[in-house]
Amino acid sequence: MADKYNPLENVWAVVDKAASILGYQENEYAAVKYPERELKVAIPMVMDDGSFRVFEAYRIQHSTARGPAKGGIRFHPAVNQNEVEALAAWMSFKCAVVNVPFGGGKGGVAVDPRKLSERELFVLTQKYTQAIAPVIGPEEDIPAPDVGTTPQIMGWFMDTYSKLNTHNVLNCVTGKPIGLGGILGRGSATGRGVMMTVNNILAKLGKKMEGTSVAVQGMGNVGSATADFLYREGMKVVGVSDVSCGIYKEDGLNIPEILEYLKQDRKNLLKDYRAEGITFITNEELLELAVDVLVPAAMENMINVDNADKIRASVIVEAANGPTTSEADEILDCKGIYVVPDILANAGGVIVSYFEWVQNIQAYLWTEERVVETLHAMMDDAFKGVWDIAKENSVSLRTGAYLIAVKRVVTAQHGRGTYL
Ligand code: GLU
Repeated sequence: MADKYNPLENVWAVVDKAASILGYQENEYAAVKYPERELKVAIPMVMDDGSFRVFEAYRIQHSTARGPAKGGIRFHPAVNQNEVEALAAWMSFKCAVVNVPFGGGKGGVAVDPRKLSERELFVLTQKYTQAIAPVIGPEEDIPAPDVGTTPQIMGWFMDTYSKLNTHNVLNCVTGKPIGLGGILGRGSATGRGVMMTVNNILAKLGKKMEGTSVAVQGMGNVGSATADFLYREGMKVVGVSDVSCGIYKEDGLNIPEILEYLKQDRKNLLKDYRAEGITFITNEELLELAVDVLVPAAMENMINVDNADKIRASVIVEAANGPTTSEADEILDCKGIYVVPDILANAGGVIVSYFEWVQNIQAYLWTEERVVETLHAMMDDAFKGVWDIAKENSVSLRTGAYLIAVKRVVTAQHGRGTYL
């Protein structure tokens, strides 16, 4: 799947579309299609069994036009330069559409973290931090968690960067543990933001969350928090999936029980979960369920030309980055399916990362209540902006989001003399 599609093509397709509606000539926005800086590093290390391995890793800064680069670090075996470039670009547009004063970046290590011991993960994180230290920093580029990385890893990252600088640099990374500069509510922020987005789109369509059916693909940090929030808001979560399979129950799954089972041991998978009335389905079948709302919260390109026509949901809220290819996007648009794009729907994480960065600079701790309230206001504002501009221009919500985002990034570039 990962090699069949080029996620960068998806990004530039929608950027070009937005730029043409905005009336930009190629020479007035083309720079936005190039990452500003790309760093590729090798991480050599001795494993617990005495074997020696070298991991390939990246840190890519797509844009610093609006502020320091910002974006997560992914630990996943499929990480490659092309994917990290796309993920970095999405971060620039994500920060722009919700108006946090950051650019966009992303990092990644091609590794399966589930196969590493805690010590191996620690050493890998230290060596990765040392390798990218020359290009990052609280005013330059601020990493955060992404697929396969955790608050603990961010804590190790902060400690390593701080030791290189001989003093604590809490704001060099976000998503840290509480007590190490982390902010309350960051762990569940992306899922909470997705829930707020589901609420916003349903309200526009005259529907309530209560009793409305939803399926969530992916049970990582984002998918599990999303399923939890949606369940607590009274939605009928009929399907969820992880890497092993999906599970389905027509009158709704018991999400707290499923999350408890998955939390007991990080090796627990849905294929071994047992409960009355559940049916096992594949990840493909989950995407094609007849539900009101579909939340892809796994990886890129999950909705593509092969399955777009079979999607039966009337609303898709993209919790993952880049889950829909551009060809699939057109098919969904023709079918009249509302797709709330990733750069808007999953921005809750980076919004609360911004609060964490501010908290670290001011050395003044935020309450969880303040985090949730401010996040809510920013998610609602951004949603309204995207909805209104999409309606004004009779375009999809994705194109609407890029009309706002591309304009903000390109305007900042113009202000800096990029096109002179
Ligand atoms: N990895 C998350 C994302 O894709 C969060 C990035 C951040 O907080 O900087 O949006």
